[in-house]
Amino acid sequence: MLPRMQPKSPDPRREKNQKYQQNNRNQQPSRPQISQMKTNRGEAIRSGRRNMETADKAVDRWKLFEKHHEQRANFIPLNEPEKIRIVPLGGQGGIGEKNMIVLELEKDALILDCGFDLSVDLPGVNFAIPATEYLESIKHKIRGYVISHGHMDHIGALPYIVPKFPAPIYGSHFTNGMVQKQFEGAVESGIEFTPECINMTMDNHERLVNGPFTIELVRITH
Ligand SMILES: [Zn+2]
Repeated sequence: MLPRMQPKSPDPRREKNQKYQQNNRNQQPSRPQISQMKTNRGEAIRSGRRNMETADKAVDRWKLFEKHHEQRANFIPLNEPEKIRIVPLGGQGGIGEKNMIVLELEKDALILDCGFDLSVDLPGVNFAIPATEYLESIKHKIRGYVISHGHMDHIGALPYIVPKFPAPIYGSHFTNGMVQKQFEGAVESGIEFTPECINMTMDNHERLVNGPFTIELVRITH
């Protein structure tokens, strides 16, 4: 026969612990319901200020970019003299859009094409030319213009830009013929300038050296 289970005598330590827990629970401040929460004015102001700081930081990041951009525009660090910079001043928006690309080294630059923007559709405006502010900043570096072919969006702006930044024009016999016609036509607009055109032949892969650049024209389809 099993002995009858005796009811457990209350453990004094356990009783004490239970009482302590209950007291502790009663002392905890009751959390306010969300509906009862009020916005603290100071906290609202501080949070507003934090937002402003975040916005300022975001703006500063762009300012930094601008500064950086200004510094870099016509500057190649001396420890990177071998690097070439390719700066398109037009021709990135599609066909017929003032083609012009500057190839630039530390002390020298070559301009590839110099064309009209034929897509301009404004009353009284027949064409536009590339913006030359950048060329002003590298004026002393410009060694020549290399013209890919004789279409207006590649040669049209030459009479308006070469007199300001004089340098020889490299192209094929045919292209340079077109270039000379452009300059003749510009006399009507009051531009009298005789360009120095250097004819190159593609068929024997003629190469001309101009400073650090070697120029060779290659026949390709348009
Ligand atoms: Zn073309």
